[in-house]
Amino acid sequence: MSNLPDNAPPAVSPILPVQLGLDEKFQFRCRKGIACFNKCCENIDILLTPYDIVRLKNRLGISSREFIDSYTTDFAMDGQGTPGLKLATKTGSAACINLTPEGCGVYEDRPAACRYYALGLVSMRKKGSPTDEDSYFVVKEEHCLGHKEPVVQTVRDYRRDQGVDVYDDINREWRQIILKKRSSGPTVGRPSERSFELFFLASYDIDGLRDFVTSAGFHEVFELEPAFRQELMQDEVQLLKFGFRLLKQVLFGEQTISLRPDAAQKRSARYREHLAQRSAGRADDLADAQDKIYESLGD
Ligand code: SF4
Ligand code: SF4
Repeated sequence: MSNLPDNAPPAVSPILPVQLGLDEKFQFRCRKGIACFNKCCENIDILLTPYDIVRLKNRLGISSREFIDSYTTDFAMDGQGTPGLKLATKTGSAACINLTPEGCGVYEDRPAACRYYALGLVSMRKKGSPTDEDSYFVVKEEHCLGHKEPVVQTVRDYRRDQGVDVYDDINREWRQIILKKRSSGPTVGRPSERSFELFFLASYDIDGLRDFVTSAGFHEVFELEPAFRQELMQDEVQLLKFGFRLLKQVLFGEQTISLRPDAAQKRSARYREHLAQRSAGRADDLADAQDKIYESLGD
């Protein structure tokens, strides 16, 4: 099972070259008891989205950092090295780490790619268009017998039944950021290490993002209403969406989060203090990582 149609299909592609719109129909059904049950989970290549990670780490009762360390592998999403995460496989095999003899061990919180299968999603922005357009493809792999089941449905109904529409709504801005980064390409130069660190934090490490947004340094730079701050602390979906806004502000200069008038001076003072601490050998790793990111916020 793979969710990589956002990239170019491989040379021998299982993707049928038929583009489907939301109200177009296709024949497919997956059900318990089908002869190929879980075959698709035995050879995976699944790119994780931010909301996938929130759902999975909560399901497993661990922090986002622990999830990243134990359940993912990293890869570069583009030629610039934008960090991506894939769902890990069992040691020495290509089977999903969540696969159990009874089936998927995280079924109610499975990633968007698992929900989509056997559809693939492609987002594209046409030249000159301000918005991207989604289209869908049927992915036909030999082992999958679901295509022989006599069930025909629209893409819209399938997405709703699988609960993937919710995932897409929450991840939409993140996918836009990736598309925009790709389309700007090398013309804007290679992004800084700090912007990659912020991308990783905002995309995958929601518990780290919460710590970051509640830190004194963040408060010195950004002006957030107390009630909104409180909401961010309590609602992970709102925090994710705030992280996407933060990314757009840092990467593309889309200013939607108010900076304090004296933010620049405070940032410089904080950075000087950080350098002094470091030379005295007192800065710890967390402060070091956070300070690097604060420095990039107004770049
Ligand atoms: S029908 Fe396809 S998606 Fe369903 S279990 Fe079989 S291989 Fe997997
Ligand atoms: S998360 Fe579940 S559905 Fe998705 S590949 Fe793993 S075992 Fe299969």
